[in-house]
Amino acid sequence: MADGTHGFNTDTDLQADIAELTRTVYPKIESKVSLLEWQLHVPLIAKINRLKRQKNAVILAHNYMTPEIFHGVGDIVGDSLALAREAANTDAQIIVQAGVHFMAETAKILSPDKTVLIPDLEAGCSLASSITGADVRAIKSAYPGVPIVTYVNTSADVKAESDICCTSANAVEVVESLGVDQVIMIPDQYLARNVAAQTDVKVMTWAGSCEVHEQFTAQDIRGMKASFPDAVVVAHPECPPEVLKAADFAGSTGAMIDYVTQEQPAKVVLVTECSMADNIAHASPASEFLRPCNLCPHMKRISLENILRALESETHAVEVAPEVAEKARVAIQRMLDLKKNTGKPGYNMERAHMIDPDIPVISRQSLANAEPRRHG
Ligand code: SF4
Repeated sequence: MADGTHGFNTDTDLQADIAELTRTVYPKIESKVSLLEWQLHVPLIAKINRLKRQKNAVILAHNYMTPEIFHGVGDIVGDSLALAREAANTDAQIIVQAGVHFMAETAKILSPDKTVLIPDLEAGCSLASSITGADVRAIKSAYPGVPIVTYVNTSADVKAESDICCTSANAVEVVESLGVDQVIMIPDQYLARNVAAQTDVKVMTWAGSCEVHEQFTAQDIRGMKASFPDAVVVAHPECPPEVLKAADFAGSTGAMIDYVTQEQPAKVVLVTECSMADNIAHASPASEFLRPCNLCPHMKRISLENILRALESETHAVEVAPEVAEKARVAIQRMLDLKKNTGKPGYNMERAHMIDPDIPVISRQSLANAEPRRHG
């Protein structure tokens, strides 16, 4: 609160909340967060949770948030699909997005009457910044009539130019729902190649990639398997197809979590952002989580400190121009309205191992080269 009390009448109130959080939350993260670190985090967690109640606010926390955010203050946690759905359903007046900017935009598009806050405006994404609405208009003019399937990791402008959105959980389902023999799936070239291996629909893509997942190599995975032959390798489909070929399971972050918590493998490698393993360690106590993992510098811009600041001052409010939001909402809603829309539990590993489609990759350069040919 602006008066600095954060809703606590007395210091004793604050101490009581801290004791309760230490009893209920700390056991979930104690294997990852030392007691000393917890003692620094817990007053902030207590203040954030009080302010949320006072302001009728919720925090959407992506699976890549650090454990003290994910378990300490997240009201709705999950992958992009889960967060997108819940953003539409919540009754809260304020939504704080503990994630990156495109996620906050999606929440605002689905909940235009609510205040949507992002704790750090610089929390971007290499996929979202790889393509603009103008690029999508150029693609549509070069490939008229071919549906554009857009990953949710994009700006509102890009979604507004698209036929339908998808996440890594439902991408195959979305592509096959259109009843066409060819789609253009933007902007992640690796997700598109991995999806192309799962379906008979022809897929073209855009030259974008996730700076976290593109760093993994098949050699990393083979090295892990040589050192730990009994380790199960679970990969995210934003990784290059060669990585999926070397993995035992592939799926969205939500599917990865379900797989590990249900199977409880003795040793597991989560080929994705590092915080995932930290966040599910307590739910899979029998599993030893082995590296490699990579950190997302954008997700890591979100901290308890800037979440508290966002709630106190109600900044930074995310706005989307109404005409853009209206068009983007149609593309998102088409995805949310898909009949099954459960997201497949995981990718078909037989197909991932066998099929390596060499799909066309569209870029600004290829569009510029094609332009004179089309008009000349
Ligand atoms: S992990 Fe990759 S896709 Fe996700 S926000 Fe970071 S850069 Fe973007």
